[in-house]
Amino acid sequence: MKKLKEYIRSIPDFPEQGIIFRDITSMLQDADGLALAVNKLRDEVKDLDYDIIVGPESRGFIFGVPLAYAEHKPFIPIRKKGKLPCETISVEYDLEYGKGILEIHKDAVSPGQRVVIVDDLIATGGTTQAMIKLIEQLGGVVVKLCFMIELKDLKGRDKLKGYSVSSLVSYE
Ligand code: 5GP
Repeated sequence: MKKLKEYIRSIPDFPEQGIIFRDITSMLQDADGLALAVNKLRDEVKDLDYDIIVGPESRGFIFGVPLAYAEHKPFIPIRKKGKLPCETISVEYDLEYGKGILEIHKDAVSPGQRVVIVDDLIATGGTTQAMIKLIEQLGGVVVKLCFMIELKDLKGRDKLKGYSVSSLVSYE
């Protein structure tokens, strides 16, 4: 049986010169790869006490929704500015060049709800930090952060001290 890492392909110089992009589409387009990925994520959460799964646009949806479906939990999307139709709160965060804004529906997380965050990849940890801010502002309690891939060199974990972080595949 193939290992998870073998389903991920590395694309040099994307989206710009000098960056190696870790591409999960090769995993998704193989039914065994997709099943393995979701099953491994299920292993990460199966013994946890939590209420909801939260994931960011857009690759966080790819893993967050099947995980939530398989575990029979609700899924809450975090989206880029202007995409969510109801009342939202927002947070600004640093992108490589400039700033981004993420939003969540105000009624999506209730005070005291226990939250698992899922995303495809953690690099600098900036996106995750912004998601934590949104969830905590609504009174949610982040109990775990699950990533398919971790880019260790970028030290995203350093921004997430005090939180439980897991990744299934890592690159130095
Ligand atoms: P961070 O905020 O931790 O620096 O970046 C993480 C976000 O950038 C994730 O939401 C992820 O989807 C995206 N990202 C950055 N680099 C890569 C990459 O090499 N491969 C994939 N699949 N996503 C990436």
